[in-house]
This record gives sequence, C-alpha cells and structure tokens, in this order.
Amino acid sequence: MGQYDIAVAGCGPAGLAAALLLHRDGHRVTLFERFDAPKPVGSGLMIQPTGQAVLRALGLEERLLAAGARVDRLFGRAGEDGPIVLDVRYSALGKKAGFGVGIHRASLFAILHDAVTAASIPIETGRPIAASRVGGGRRHLCFEDGSESGPFDLVVDALGTRTPLAPPTGRALAYGALWASLDWPESAGFDAAALEQRYRRASVMVGVLPIGTPPGRRAPQAAFFWSLRADRLEDWRAAGLGPWKDEVLRLWPLLAPLLDRIEASDQLTFARYAHRTLPTPAEPGMIHIGDAWHSASPQLGQGANMALIDAYALALALRMESGVDSAIGKAIALRRRHVGLYQWLTALFTPVYQSDSRMLPFVRDRLVGPLSRLWPATRIQAAMVSGLVGDPLGSLDL
Ligand SMILES: Cc1cc2nc3c(=O)[nH]c(=O)nc-3n(C[C@H](O)[C@H](O)[C@H](O)COP(=O)(O)OP(=O)(O)OC[C@H]3O[C@@H](n4cnc5c(N)ncnc54)[C@H](O)[C@@H]3O)c2cc1C
Repeated sequence: MGQYDIAVAGCGPAGLAAALLLHRDGHRVTLFERFDAPKPVGSGLMIQPTGQAVLRALGLEERLLAAGARVDRLFGRAGEDGPIVLDVRYSALGKKAGFGVGIHRASLFAILHDAVTAASIPIETGRPIAASRVGGGRRHLCFEDGSESGPFDLVVDALGTRTPLAPPTGRALAYGALWASLDWPESAGFDAAALEQRYRRASVMVGVLPIGTPPGRRAPQAAFFWSLRADRLEDWRAAGLGPWKDEVLRLWPLLAPLLDRIEASDQLTFARYAHRTLPTPAEPGMIHIGDAWHSASPQLGQGANMALIDAYALALALRMESGVDSAIGKAIALRRRHVGLYQWLTALFTPVYQSDSRMLPFVRDRLVGPLSRLWPATRIQAAMVSGLVGDPLGSLDL
C-alpha cells in the first residue's frame, strides 16, 4: 500500500471520517473547511446500523450511543388517530436486528472532530474552496481568495451537495422542511425510542425524533420537523407563528408542549432537499464522496450513513490497490450499487410523503400502509431503513 499526500475537502461526516481512516492508514492528510471554526449545520439525523458499523470500526461507537438516543421503531399515522401508514420495527430483522440512533448533528460532529483533533490531523479553517486543478500530474486546491494548496496525490471532495469541485447536476425538490431542536417533552407521551410522524395527504407532514443530549446541554432533545414547500416559506414567515401552530395542533394535539417552546420563527431552520447523483464521481487524482457524490431527501434517513460508508470504502480501496487512480476506481466500484439502489428508493418514496399528489397518499393510507404491516413487508422495510438492502457492508468486511 502506498502512502500519499491527501487533501480532504470538507469537515462534514464524510470528510472527518475519511480523514481519520486515511490518517490511521499512514497517509499524510490535511483537512480544509470554509468555516473559521468547523461547525455542523442543522438539527438531528439518524445513524443506521450501516453508519454504526463504520463508527465501530473507528472506535467511536460508544460515544455515539452515549450521545444519541436509541430508536427501535419508525411510526406514522394519517392524522392524529387515523390509519397507520408507517410502522417499521428494526426487530423485524430477527437475530440480525439492529437499531437506529437519533443524534443531534452537533453530537456527531463533536465525536468525529474530537477524534481528528486527538490524532493531530491538521485542519485549515476559513478556507472556502472554489476549484481544483491538475499540475505536474498532481492535484491542487484553489481557494476563493485566489490562493492554492498542494500538490496532492489525492483530493477527496467531501464538500456536500453544493460542491464547487463537481459539475452541477440533479434537481432541487419542491418540498423541504422546517427543523428545530427542542427539549424533549418528558410528560407529553411521545415514544422515546421511536421516530413518530403524522401526515395529511402528502402535502403535510410533522415529525418528532429523539436525538439524545447534544454538547453543552443537560437534558435530552427532540428534532421537530414540519414539511413545507420551498415556495411557501416566505408566506409562512409573513403569516406569523399563530396560524401555523393552530394548523400543527389540529393535526397532532400532542405537540402542544413542543410548540410552546417555539417563540420565534427563526428558531426553525428551513432545509431544502435535492436529488443529485454524479454519474462519474471521480477525475484523475480526485474522488467525490458523501453528498458531493449523491444527495437525496432525508426520507429514508441514509445520507450521513452513506457518507460514512463511502469514506470507509475509499480507505479500504487505497489499501487494496497499488495506485491512486486504481484505488479511486475500486472505491467507486465498492459503493456504486448501494448508492444507485438507495438513490432510486429515496426518489421512489419521497413523493409518497412529500408532494402535492392526492393519488399517492390515497393508495398509501388505504393499501400500502396496511399491507406493509404484514410479513415479509415488515422485514423488507426494516432492511431498507437499516441501510442494509444491497448488502453494503459485506463487500467492505464490516
Ligand atoms: C434536514 C436534513 C435531515 C437529514 N436527516 C438525515 C438522517 O436522518 N440520516 C442521514 O443519514 N442523513 C440525513 N440527512 C443527510 C445528511 O445530513 C447528509 O447526507 C450528510 O450530512 C452528508 O455528509 P457530507 O459530509 O457528505 O456533507 P456535509 O455534511 O454537507 O458536509 C460538507 C462540509 O463541507 C464544507 N464546505 C462546503 N462547501 C465548502 C467550500 N466551498 N469550501 C470549504 N468547505 C466547504 C461544509 O461547511 C461542511 O462542513 C439529512 C439532511 C438534511 C438537510
């Protein structure tokens, strides 16, 4: 195995995990990040058995479990007490069953960032990347201020869905969601081990995910989200919180104690989603991983997990192959099938929960919902949510 000079661009889950794995294999790694102090953006997410396997390989599983909340079930109804539309239990996988971990982004970031700092991996912050170029057979990073860094044997693009290192592709989705992290409402009656959602058709969705105790907090929190069409965001802001809270409570009165904690609209962050997949996630001396390669709506909750597996596959490929470009090809080959499968599945399921369609939610509530609670659908859904369809871990020996 060669040992290389590697630039990792971006301090999200993909970049931090890649930096750790590559450093541990003896490569000379430097991380680059646009923020002056690397920081996570957003509320909560779920680490599935796939992402947990990578964190276990990094020796970080215990910290994940301590910081996050164990999630055993995903449960959703059409309306407050309407038909059950979603009921996925990880235990449906039997002996192989795992669980999800709901976690605040700041917690996941802190776990990975602390490990990077402990390993003394250099991080250049306040370095917004604009492009890359090849010179003398090696790759350089070009920054917005006109400066450059390099040359590197390999640039790992982990800059997320709006990466400037790859051509724009894909499409923004009409629907996104408002997110907030709020103290967990102990006495409200939510299941502390479940992601719970309520829907009205596919145009309205509200959810609560336990996310453990984020850094600097004493009490556990919930990620609260409300689906919203991006072109209605300004109207939502202009209307004020009152009418919106009334609408949320009509759908799910149990949310009252959580809504009481929202006093201003800027407590909610709007996240817009995009579906994009680079057909060729590589160029000579550069690979795109995580959201820089593939991003999707969080409907199946796989993005951060796929980012972690991409990082693991890259490190493994560099161990297996003798040159950088053949290792890039190997890393992509190890991941392509799973990535393609989940991009397709997410594109298939997203309109069922977030769209203006009337037909899809009608079929969902009356046909698919009831059928999905019967075997073998229960097992298939558990495998899908776990991230295990297509056996992504087998080829990585994880
Ligand atoms: C609301 C929401 C909920 C989600 N829920 C889930 C979930 O439950 N489960 C799940 O697995 N996934 C979820 N996802 C998806 C998940 O967040 C992403 O897939 C994951 O963060 C991708 O990681 P990444 O490291 O590839 O990119 P990112 O997390 O986007 O990290 C990119 C990094 O690059 C830096 N950067 C960007 N541009 C530049 C530049 N030009 N120069 C220098 N630095 C730059 C950024 O500051 C950032 O640090 C969700 C996403 C959203 C928006």
